[in-house]
Amino acid sequence: MTAEIIDGKAISSELRNNITNEIKQLKSINENFQPKLIIIQVGERPDSSTYVRMKLKSSSEVGIDGSLIKLSNDISQDSLLEKIHDLNNDESVHGILIQLPLPSHLDEEKITNAVKQEKDIDGFSELNLAAIFKKNAVAKFIPCTPKGIMYLLNHENVKIKNKNVVVCGRSDIVGGPLSKLLEKAGGTVTTVHSQTTSDQLKFYCQNADIIVSAVGIANFITGDLIKPGCVIIDVGTNYVPDDSKKSGQRMCGDVDFDSCLSKASKITPVPGGVGPMTVVMVLDNVLQSAKRSAGLL
Ligand code: NAP
Repeated sequence: MTAEIIDGKAISSELRNNITNEIKQLKSINENFQPKLIIIQVGERPDSSTYVRMKLKSSSEVGIDGSLIKLSNDISQDSLLEKIHDLNNDESVHGILIQLPLPSHLDEEKITNAVKQEKDIDGFSELNLAAIFKKNAVAKFIPCTPKGIMYLLNHENVKIKNKNVVVCGRSDIVGGPLSKLLEKAGGTVTTVHSQTTSDQLKFYCQNADIIVSAVGIANFITGDLIKPGCVIIDVGTNYVPDDSKKSGQRMCGDVDFDSCLSKASKITPVPGGVGPMTVVMVLDNVLQSAKRSAGLL
C-alpha cells in the first residue's frame, strides 16, 4: 500500500479562493464591510517577524485589512494590556492576534486572556478554549491548527465516528483542543504526552485508525508503530541537519514519512500539509468575526 498524500497546500488554496470570493461579494453588497486584523508583535524575534509577514501578506491577498502594531521588547504588561483594551473597544477591528512567544517578563496567559472573546481569532483565550471543552457550548473561534486539521479530515472524507484516534501532544493550542474536537466528532480518543511510556505509545498507535502528531520531535512516529491503513496527520515542525541544503538543515515533521508512506492510507507531508491550513484558518476566523459583527452569522 502507498498512502495518498493529503495536499494541504492545494486544499488551503481552494479555501483561500473561497474566502477571497466571499469577501468580494460581501463588499459588493455592503461597501462598509471590511474585515480587519491587527497583529501585535512585541520585540524583534526573526521567526515571529517571518510569521507576521506571512499572515499580513495572506490577509491582503484575500481582501482583509491587516496591520501590524510592533511594540518594543521592554513594554510593560500594563501598557500592553491597555493597548489590547483599546483594540477591544475599536469597532472597526474584527481580529486581534498576539504573536507568540512574548518576552519572558510578560504573562502570556494574562495577555491572551485580555483579548475580547469576539476578537480572539487565535482562539487561545480561556473563554474560547472552555467552550470547546463544554459539551453543548459553541466556541466563537476554534484555534487555527486544530480547525485546519478538522477541515482536512472532513475534506478527505476521513470518518472519525467509531474510530480509534491517537493525538500525540496536549498543548492548549494544538493537542488539547484537537483531542476534544475529535472526541466530539465521535472518535474514541487517546491523548499521549511526555509522561506516556514508549510501550504505551506503541500499544495505542498500533490500534489507531487516525494518528495526529503534535509533539515537536523528528521521527517520533515510525512505520513500525502504525497499523496498515491508518490516517496520519503530521503537525510537527522540526529542523534536522541536512548537508545538501544551503542552510545546512531541512524542515521535517514528527513522522518518519518514508516508513509510514507504505503503510498508511493517507498522510500529510511537512512542509505542505497542516502548516498552510493553519494560515488560512486565521483568515477564515477573521472573516467569520467580521460577518458576526455585521450581523451576517
Ligand atoms: P508544545 O506546547 O511544546 O507541546 C508539545 C506536546 O508534546 C506537549 O503536550 C508534550 O507533553 C508532548 N510531548 C513532548 N515530548 C513528548 C514525548 N516524548 N512523547 C509524547 N509526547 C511528548 O508544542 P505545540 O505548540 O503543541 O506544537 C507541537 C509541534 O507542532 C511543534 O513542532 C510545533 O512547531 C508544531 N506546530 C505546527 C503548526 C503548524 O501549523 N504546522 C502549528 C502549531 C504547532 P507534556 O504536555 O506532557 O509536556
